[in-house]
Amino acid sequence: MIALRCRRDPCGFICLILTYFSVFYADYVVIQYVLIPAYSGSAWCSLHGAVFNVLLVLLLACHSKAVFSDPGMVPLPDTAIDFSDLRSQSSRKNERGCEGWTVCSRCETYRPPRAHHCRVCQRCIRRMDHHCPWINNCVGELNQKYFIQFLFYTGLASLYSIALVVSAWVWRIRSERDGDPNEAPSKHLIVAHYIILLVESVLFGVFVVVIFYDQLVSIITDETPIEQMKNRLMKDRASSSQHTHTTVTHTHTRKPKLALLREVFGRGSVLCWLFPLHSSPPSAGGISYSALPDYDV
Ligand SMILES: [Zn+2]
Ligand SMILES: [Zn+2]
Repeated sequence: MIALRCRRDPCGFICLILTYFSVFYADYVVIQYVLIPAYSGSAWCSLHGAVFNVLLVLLLACHSKAVFSDPGMVPLPDTAIDFSDLRSQSSRKNERGCEGWTVCSRCETYRPPRAHHCRVCQRCIRRMDHHCPWINNCVGELNQKYFIQFLFYTGLASLYSIALVVSAWVWRIRSERDGDPNEAPSKHLIVAHYIILLVESVLFGVFVVVIFYDQLVSIITDETPIEQMKNRLMKDRASSSQHTHTTVTHTHTRKPKLALLREVFGRGSVLCWLFPLHSSPPSAGGISYSALPDYDV
């Protein structure tokens, strides 16, 4: 499945390579040019090295889970479904009369409420948030947790590497001022690595903080970016049509914020939210997901 997605989306494949390269480059610079020169012979060298590498392992574990997990693809029917009854009736009536289930003309299947079609994956994804090239996968109901954990650990690792590089750079300037001859060779190379890692960490750090914030907002407001856009469009249409009073209908009811977070991160301890552990998918009102909805059409 991942091989197919990689072939379909070269941008996603490039982003995956860039992610792995950035992680290994950061680890190389931190160990080779930050920890070993600045903290050699000290317990801080091992401690910082261990903590930074644990963060990177968690980052890669969450990233792998986000990449390889099923985001919540709506299964395709084994046999072609006859939509003739549906087409003969009003499609609007069908959408409303069947608890929010809709028909995807591209997948030619029924899809549950809040599922949307992804043009890159060419499948309908349950509670689709967006298609992310950085994981070369959709962010949906079943892998959003791993995606957010990946953002969290990327943010932490970026912050940590910025702190380590800045402290090592300060140490280097001080030792140069004191006339330590050991630091003279390859000075420009070391500074170049420091600058590259700082730029990388700031760019990725800011990027993930923004997306992390958006993800949390979309969870606690119980509205994916696609739904936000649709609702905004409906509001615009409603405000532009002065003659008719069109009300924007929400497809789902408001739930407590903690319950919404638990739907994404699992129902276990909050501590488990930090780890890419499998949690049972939300039962969303007892809806069983299959190619055919549980009603007559
Ligand atoms: Zn579809
Ligand atoms: Zn997708």
